[in-house]
Amino acid sequence: MYLDINEPVKFNEYTGKCPVCGGLMVYVDYVYRIPYYESVLITTGKCSSCGYKYRDVRLTDQKEPRRIIYRVEKPGDERALVIRSSGSILLIPELGLSIEPGPFSQGFITTVEGLIMDFAEKTRFLCEEDKEKKAECDIVMEKLAKARDGLISYTVIIEDKTGLSDIVSGKTIYEKLQPATG
Ligand SMILES: [Zn+2]
Repeated sequence: MYLDINEPVKFNEYTGKCPVCGGLMVYVDYVYRIPYYESVLITTGKCSSCGYKYRDVRLTDQKEPRRIIYRVEKPGDERALVIRSSGSILLIPELGLSIEPGPFSQGFITTVEGLIMDFAEKTRFLCEEDKEKKAECDIVMEKLAKARDGLISYTVIIEDKTGLSDIVSGKTIYEKLQPATG
């Protein structure tokens, strides 16, 4: 689901502690240039002991805390690039879907279409785990299939207190968000 229009350029490597097992994590930073846009920083990490993988993506120029709103309403809209940093909340209200920040939250860069495909994959996986929720799952899967085929309009919202996320499109709307407290 990750795009590689241009090759990300590696520029930094460092180590840290694995949040899962305390082992040695090796982090690598890459700069990724998006055509007609600013650069994005991609950090990947891998634990040498347990294999835990970490990924985060953020803008190189931090913005004000903001709500990023993008409406998908016609063919082609699904091709907009979504840069979601690990500390932000991502919502698709019409589909009842969200991604919350947390200790194991990962950042990603993908298209809106890639996001829908990823939600479909995760929902399918969760549904197989929990048979009791089948009816509920079927409804979500049906909505995701319609979203994928461009049969319904929906909104992708990122609530970004860190100012490190964006949706790359001329029709993205930004609202001011109160900065994080504490
Ligand atoms: Zn580990």
